[in-house]
Amino acid sequence: MTIDISQFSIRKAHEHLMKKDFSARELAQAHLDVVAEKDADIHAYIEVYDDVLAQADIADKRIASGDVDTLTGIPLAIKDNILISGRKVSAASKILENYHATYDAHVIGLLKKANSVFLGRTNMDEFAMGGSTEHSAYGVTRNPYDLSRVPGGSSGGSAAAVAMGGALAALGSDTGGSVRQPASFCGVVGLKPTYGALSRSGLIAMGSSLDQIGPITKTVSDAEILFKHLRVHDPKDSTSLPAYTQQRSDGKLTIGIPYDFLEKGVDREVRRNFDASVKKLENMGYSCTDIKLPHVKHSLAIYYIIMPAEASTNLARFDGVRYGMRASSDTLLAQYVKTRGAGFGAEVKRRIVLGAYVLSSGYYDAYYNKANSVRNLVAQDFDTVFGANEKRVHAIMTPTAPTPAFPIGERTADPLQMYLADIFTVPANIVGVPALAVPSGVTERGKLPFGVQFMAPHMREDTLFRIGKDFLGEQQ
Ligand code: GLN
Repeated sequence: MTIDISQFSIRKAHEHLMKKDFSARELAQAHLDVVAEKDADIHAYIEVYDDVLAQADIADKRIASGDVDTLTGIPLAIKDNILISGRKVSAASKILENYHATYDAHVIGLLKKANSVFLGRTNMDEFAMGGSTEHSAYGVTRNPYDLSRVPGGSSGGSAAAVAMGGALAALGSDTGGSVRQPASFCGVVGLKPTYGALSRSGLIAMGSSLDQIGPITKTVSDAEILFKHLRVHDPKDSTSLPAYTQQRSDGKLTIGIPYDFLEKGVDREVRRNFDASVKKLENMGYSCTDIKLPHVKHSLAIYYIIMPAEASTNLARFDGVRYGMRASSDTLLAQYVKTRGAGFGAEVKRRIVLGAYVLSSGYYDAYYNKANSVRNLVAQDFDTVFGANEKRVHAIMTPTAPTPAFPIGERTADPLQMYLADIFTVPANIVGVPALAVPSGVTERGKLPFGVQFMAPHMREDTLFRIGKDFLGEQQ
């Protein structure tokens, strides 16, 4: 049988594997063929593994034995900041160019247990700092919808891999939007789980109080499959949440829209698409209502203090002694300086400097402590709208990004412009709530994808899946 993999979701591929319509080897080969055909242009992958078919053969044996998981034999792409024991992992940085992971990330261990197939590691902004995948030490990734445009970032390689049909699904990481914004730019689904839902063990840290691994998929059901498989408590991550079950909320759901927050800086076409998306949900019986989140406008400012503070601390370990590249010198200090000077790219250095500044003794209170206080106020805004009162809403909706995918090179010289791409995604990380980005159509002229985002209270991913499936017309 010929396999038209571009049509497949995890769920569908799994059904075919069970019916023996094709093998895991054929499924993997079909994806490798797409990668061979398209990835020279798109460059979603930094490395495609040379043992993909061998992994698929093991999955086929497991399928033959009858003891199968939904993810058995499913070909996945993994962002280059998630550790797979024995394989290279570089966070798209020169400083980790030939570094090999010494253990499996918790999520990788869970996927190995299911005998999923790892196709390769995907391109990203260096250390996940960026919104366009242009800050990679290994070249840019291009948007499969328009090769002159960015795929978003920082998980742009993962999103492009799924969008081009070069992986059934992928893992990314999301510190301020890096799963959702590229998913939106590439017309696929992206989930940032509740903070602590998926273990961060084996994820190269960026901002530890913000980071979450998340799935990038073609359908909401697939995001749900991956989320449920990976949501296993991990004693190695002190912020890992205990298992939680979600009682399905029946009945009519109310969605809150912070219209004030959408006033500024949103592209006209994005706004039109968003309004049409709201109408679509209303026609399905959802009630959509205006809400106020008075402090949410400070989210980006808070993020660009807390994230660099945490990132500069996390990146202190890359000193030329313990990991990766070493630029030798006469004294230890000179070796640190030379290694870090040559190993880190410009955006990473910018954030290390910013982080060191806001944490310095003279400025700690003025910046870092202040940002933490305002972070609490944003969290209170969310508690109020999600709280137990008759005006409560079940979810909050915004566009995923203020514009569709922008041209390569447009924002690299202007970091502030780049940072604005995360204005709608950053609040969920600051507050720790789950958020789901789903595609919502394409632009009239360039056919570039639009996306909308739903946020729910902590641990209520079930609400997001329900709304997302309704929105995309998927079976509940
Ligand atoms: N684009 C944002 C940043 O540059 C978010 C990155 C992320 O989520 N990893 O920090």
